[in-house]
Amino acid sequence: MTEHPRVEIAGSSVSVDHFINGVRVASEATFEDRSPLDWNWLLADISRGDATTADLAVTAAVDAFPAWAALSSVERGKYLKRLADLIDEHQEKIALVECADMAMLEESLRLRVIARGARNFRAYAELAEVFEGRHWESNGTDNRIQRMPAGPTVVITPWNAPFMLSTWKTAPALAAGNTVILKPAEWSPLSCSMLADLIAEAGFPPGVFNIVQGIGEEIGAALVADPRVRRVSFTGSPETGRIIGEAVARNLTPFTAELGGKGPLMVFADADLDGAAKAAANMYDDSGQVCLAGTRIMVEASIKDVFLEKMRTITQAHVLGDSRDATTTISPMIHPVHLATVEGFVERARANGDEIIFGGKRWKEDGLWYEPTLIAPKSNDSEVVQREIFGPVLTFQTFETEDEAIALANSTAYGLSGIIWTSSQERAERVGTALRAGTVWVNCFLVRDLTAPFGGFGISGIGREGGDYALDFYSDLKTLQIKEHTTEAGA
Ligand code: NAD
Repeated sequence: MTEHPRVEIAGSSVSVDHFINGVRVASEATFEDRSPLDWNWLLADISRGDATTADLAVTAAVDAFPAWAALSSVERGKYLKRLADLIDEHQEKIALVECADMAMLEESLRLRVIARGARNFRAYAELAEVFEGRHWESNGTDNRIQRMPAGPTVVITPWNAPFMLSTWKTAPALAAGNTVILKPAEWSPLSCSMLADLIAEAGFPPGVFNIVQGIGEEIGAALVADPRVRRVSFTGSPETGRIIGEAVARNLTPFTAELGGKGPLMVFADADLDGAAKAAANMYDDSGQVCLAGTRIMVEASIKDVFLEKMRTITQAHVLGDSRDATTTISPMIHPVHLATVEGFVERARANGDEIIFGGKRWKEDGLWYEPTLIAPKSNDSEVVQREIFGPVLTFQTFETEDEAIALANSTAYGLSGIIWTSSQERAERVGTALRAGTVWVNCFLVRDLTAPFGGFGISGIGREGGDYALDFYSDLKTLQIKEHTTEAGA
């Protein structure tokens, strides 16, 4: 069918359709996309892709693959760098649309988050260029390690930070020589639709980078089940990760998964308590919808009262409000369904006998805000300690010794991140090494070097993103072993 009309959002004209083989493609069926800033604000009716759309997109990626794979890293890098420049140019517009779509604070989007999209493409253009394969001699042969582009790649992303996470995953896939079908989450599809306009403007060959819209269980499931797809890269919940894992297993398609988190934020008595309390209160940023957040606050028993008072005071200074307002520090949650899920966790905690230290209710009835909430669990087995809530709800526990702190920190099935506050370098190294987590920050948070590995232990994920780790995943690694021809060769 012909394209749907574009919609005007926050001063930008945004397509509601898929982007396949270099052109917009519409689906007859649509789904509603509403703004968490005001649930009565219907942003757009978005094309709802199905199995036929998935087939079209995979076919485009299959057809485009040989020519894209045949380009050198430097040639592919030129497209990625052009796209990065265009993202920089349109950063402000993308930020405003993403703010309307998923309600992260406009200022963070404008100043940090969207710009990271450009950095992702630039970083991977450069990393792929410098890889020319290790080679060495042994057993009288020359061993050459080559990275061969793996093939059409499906990337599926969640609704929190949709632009940043989608670019973080697609950049290495494209840089490695793969063609891509990206499916963003149905709760925040708009910034990725804007990315499609920039892909067209950057002049990517048709079919190299496709973006489709729709519901996970429909088009998402069709994409990951297609045997022509040679890599699947997923970020989302462990529950969906398991479903996708089963689907890709049937085709033996290599799969990475960046899943949920339940990170500890550990504060030792020797720490800068003001800095640590501020860090703890900042875990309510983005309404706690951050996979890496340290959501289990655990403090040394001797500083319990003083720390709690500091954290309470800083938390009270948070301003709940419209994410477009520069004074707001806590945005609404993404969706009424997700708000109800978070409420359910707190209600069950109450019924379980866990102590609500502060918060524990909606901010007001007519919006999607939930008050910053702190819960002292009855025991470490409480559901609020053991399961990811993905909202502004933290738990508060104490420990007496370093060993007890480590045992508590490592006591969930997750292992995405850990945060330690201490002034002791020896303790930082000891505890940091003992934590079962993909990334551990000491006296800081969210500081990232894009070349470092990123991923989760346990149910927080499979595989690693970042630097060469991602380029290896998106490649078929080959060993080419050449023995120089002599008259005795093969003798
Ligand atoms: P989700 O698992 O519900 O959905 C993620 C994506 O999967 C969406 O695009 C959805 O449409 C798609 N999907 C759903 N069912 C599918 C199926 N059967 N087949 C194919 N695709 C399907 O997750 P969410 O609610 O969007 O995101 C929140 C979760 O993501 C949290 O658990 C959070 O911790 C996690 N997350 C992890 C990281 C990380 O880097 N580890 C980063 C951000 C978010």
